[in-house]
Amino acid sequence: MEFKTIIEPFKIHSVATIAMTTQEQREKLITGVGNNLFSLHSDDVLIDLLTDSGTGAMSRNQWAAIQRGDESYAGSPSWFKFKDAVQNLFPYTHVIPTHQGRAAEKILFTALGGPGKVIPSNTHFDTTRANIEYSKAEAVDLVIAEGRDPSSLHPFKGNMDLVALEEFIIKTGVANIPVVMMTITNNSGGGQPVSLENLKAVSAMCKKYNLPFFLDACRFAENAWFIREREAGQSECNIVDIVREIASLADGMTMSAKKDPLGNIGGWLALNDDALAEKCRNLLILTEGFPTYGGLAGRDLEALAVGLTEIVSHDYLKYRITSTAYLGNALSELGIPVMLPIGGHAVYLDAKAFLPHIPALQYPGQSLAVELYKVGGIRGCEIGTVMFGRKPDGTEVAAPMELVRLAIPRRTYTQSHIDYVIEVCAEVHKNASRLRGYKIAKEPASLRHFTSEFAPL
Ligand SMILES: *Cc1c(COP(=O)(O)O)cnc(C)c1O
Repeated sequence: MEFKTIIEPFKIHSVATIAMTTQEQREKLITGVGNNLFSLHSDDVLIDLLTDSGTGAMSRNQWAAIQRGDESYAGSPSWFKFKDAVQNLFPYTHVIPTHQGRAAEKILFTALGGPGKVIPSNTHFDTTRANIEYSKAEAVDLVIAEGRDPSSLHPFKGNMDLVALEEFIIKTGVANIPVVMMTITNNSGGGQPVSLENLKAVSAMCKKYNLPFFLDACRFAENAWFIREREAGQSECNIVDIVREIASLADGMTMSAKKDPLGNIGGWLALNDDALAEKCRNLLILTEGFPTYGGLAGRDLEALAVGLTEIVSHDYLKYRITSTAYLGNALSELGIPVMLPIGGHAVYLDAKAFLPHIPALQYPGQSLAVELYKVGGIRGCEIGTVMFGRKPDGTEVAAPMELVRLAIPRRTYTQSHIDYVIEVCAEVHKNASRLRGYKIAKEPASLRHFTSEFAPL
């Protein structure tokens, strides 16, 4: 008998108390920090959906592994456990540990970037793009057209546009392309997966033109689960085999261990090229640490080695993808506009459709995010004109989409928390026409979404 309810495949081992607050208290708290959700104390948040990065719950086996952490400077047993766990899934010759994904990016693009270089991807994540641009290289996004359409139901909206990639290679010239990247799942494009077929085609094209191919593999397990569920001929495959097949198509990877490896901190760079690896290790020593710990403590390496065995569990992945879809589909059925299909790690509310009466330059996403906090203590993240509207030349332009991301931390909230989120969203939706826009009262020179202050109009 297959039951309809898919239970959380874990029981709670240690708890963090949520301090309950009233709407009146929250209205004071958010006004007191200039209506910026990043400025709240997280103790004043009931359900924190700001990000899935480093916010997941570790298992008791991970906590036990932390006690086995060996803090030797060089050649610690914890390092060998970590390296084996990475290579079990991604059998690249060199594994270079870093404190976060962006540190791996910084090292890779310091080695490969520079003026005149152009690096394509399906969609570069923002830290990836920033590190490429900081090296004075250019970052280009070539996701398929469906990946830019919030209502398209394409099963693999993270796929690379293969025609556009080949045109790009011919136009740019192989000598100016140091590496081709693919983000799995496509975080900036809504957590949408990439198909195995598309990865194979990109890999073949890179071989044809003799270009290195690297994965930004932060959500590799979620992506592999989507392949198993949605791609012809994959439904009987083991996730570990799918992950290894994905790895075999590329020459290396950058990784944030704060995502699928179930860590609170960590990352790595892995690759086959000996000369490039040596260059990267030399850069690692400058900013991160010795090559057998990178920016991490031995105990972190232990926790990640265990996390990498837990993340490929079919029971976990089935629960993970189904529970994210449970939230998204419930909202959609209530007539609340969300980006479809629901991705792996987050549900994106479409604030433009939710609040059609608020113009983009009055920040509908910010208005919606603040209201979700006031009404229900939920913290989401505006991904719209506040985040992307200010251009380097100082002008302000509406972002292509006004979204509020509700990212789901791994193994952290139960179905009743999510049912509560659904109820709060429905209440806010009922009163949507009463919401007003905001103006920016105080704005920093860059990355304004983190520290701006907002005043209601
Ligand atoms: C989070 C993330 C990164 C950066 O990793 P950090 O650990 O936050 O530095 C890079 N790429 C993608 C797709 C991510 O989701």
